[in-house]
Amino acid sequence: MLQFFVTQLAASLGKSYVLTQDSDMAPYLTDWRQRFTGKALAVVLPGSTKEVAQIVKACAQANISIVPQGGNTSFCGGATPDNSGNQIVLSLKRLNNIREIDILNQTISVEAGCILQTIQEQAAAQSYLFPLSLGSQGSCQIGGNLATNAGGTNVLRYGNARDLCLGIEVVTAQGEIWHGMKGLRKDNTGYDLRDLFIGSEGSLGIITAAVMKLYPLPVAQWTTLVATQNIASTVALLNLFQKRAVSLLTGFEMMALESLTLLEKHFPQMTNPLQNKPAYTILIELSDHESEAHVRQLLESILEEALALEIISDAVIASNLSQANLFWHMREHITVAQSEEGANLKHDISIPLVALEQFVQETNHLLKAQFPGVRLINFGHLGDGNLHYNVSAPEGINSQKFAQTYEKPIQELIYAQVELFQGSISAEHGVGQLKLDVLRAHKGVVAHELMKTLKRALDPQNILNPSKVISV
Ligand SMILES: Cc1cc2nc3c(=O)[nH]c(=O)nc-3n(C[C@H](O)[C@H](O)[C@H](O)COP(=O)(O)OP(=O)(O)OC[C@H]3O[C@@H](n4cnc5c(N)ncnc54)[C@H](O)[C@@H]3O)c2cc1C
Repeated sequence: MLQFFVTQLAASLGKSYVLTQDSDMAPYLTDWRQRFTGKALAVVLPGSTKEVAQIVKACAQANISIVPQGGNTSFCGGATPDNSGNQIVLSLKRLNNIREIDILNQTISVEAGCILQTIQEQAAAQSYLFPLSLGSQGSCQIGGNLATNAGGTNVLRYGNARDLCLGIEVVTAQGEIWHGMKGLRKDNTGYDLRDLFIGSEGSLGIITAAVMKLYPLPVAQWTTLVATQNIASTVALLNLFQKRAVSLLTGFEMMALESLTLLEKHFPQMTNPLQNKPAYTILIELSDHESEAHVRQLLESILEEALALEIISDAVIASNLSQANLFWHMREHITVAQSEEGANLKHDISIPLVALEQFVQETNHLLKAQFPGVRLINFGHLGDGNLHYNVSAPEGINSQKFAQTYEKPIQELIYAQVELFQGSISAEHGVGQLKLDVLRAHKGVVAHELMKTLKRALDPQNILNPSKVISV
């Protein structure tokens, strides 16, 4: 029966678009962090929205569940099938057309499988900025970005994937196509269906295209690295920049000393230009539509004020584009350095800024006392209160063994602290299968039941990414 289903699919889509050999399927069956590996009946590669709809209809009829997959760069195992071997992986990578750039409306209409960086480049070619920016932008797809409501380094100024999306095209669990590709900025016509699908990680529908916002490309950008002694000073610095630079502030990233030590171990060419190994290195970017001189002057005057207020102790302004790129590469490569180091325990959390200093101090103290020698790789989009509060094994200890033994108690400790400080256990990476079990306690009973009600209503057969985000 299952074999017949696959043969039928291959007959309608073409054999080369229905992968069944182990070696062909392998790259789709393990996640980026190599934490989750599953099995699949087939990996299916449709070439159009119509084909996606046709596949979903066939799956609904045969009661076969579907795991949508974009660039497979997510961190919570949402795009990896289970071990049954009865699910199909539906890769969106062939839906990769830019449908339209509408200069008057400042929007770009793209298919779900477009690589994020390609969209940025296409927009830039028309002198526009598509501001979503992640370390994975060379591989992740806009459909995956929307399905996870990705954040990244520009949220502070432009918002996350949800904020950048005006319209969406979705294949429902019944195989119907919802053409919601209106690029309207105002549309108060009842329930916001678009926002329901964004962030649903493939559990409510399959995103096949979207209308995304564009912005004028800034004419000047200045990037600086700044040294601070603690988080309280860092938050004060953010506040100062927000007051003085207002919308010119486009990046505010924090890197704690231990994260840069790990970075230098794996990427020795990425040494911190700031002297004396500061406790926190802050990457700040200002962007302007007026002139280089205007934004440079502003940056210098804010830094002078911060020095006078003693909230920073040192600063280096990038002298050219390649140094600015190096600063950003430092920030983006921390994740890569961590994976080079071996298994690690990631906690993508957000905490109200006002409580961040106390949260970090207390949580660092508790972890170091209970798990001596652990390395706390803290960095993140501080401007959004988003901290990647990651834990690596003590130097010289087998990272795999450490992660297996201590994942649960370390996670419990950190998430209990997150609850205490009224934060979130998933700021931007989503839930996937990794955080399925902790979601209920975190959301609370009422919100969790509402989520279940939605899932049951939209996907009564539970064929769309079952046991991801929510179990029904
Ligand atoms: C080096 C690195 C840096 C990163 N930095 C950031 C960061 O700064 N901010 C951030 O938010 N994330 C970051 N990520 C995580 C990841 O890149 C994002 O979550 C990204 O949005 C995932 O996109 P993807 O196309 O790879 O999706 P996938 O991993 O393929 O899928 C993610 C989820 O979305 C679902 N899905 C995928 N496509 C569709 C679709 N078309 N319709 C419906 N469901 C779909 C999948 O089923 C799965 O549940 C980073 C990852 C790496 C490797």
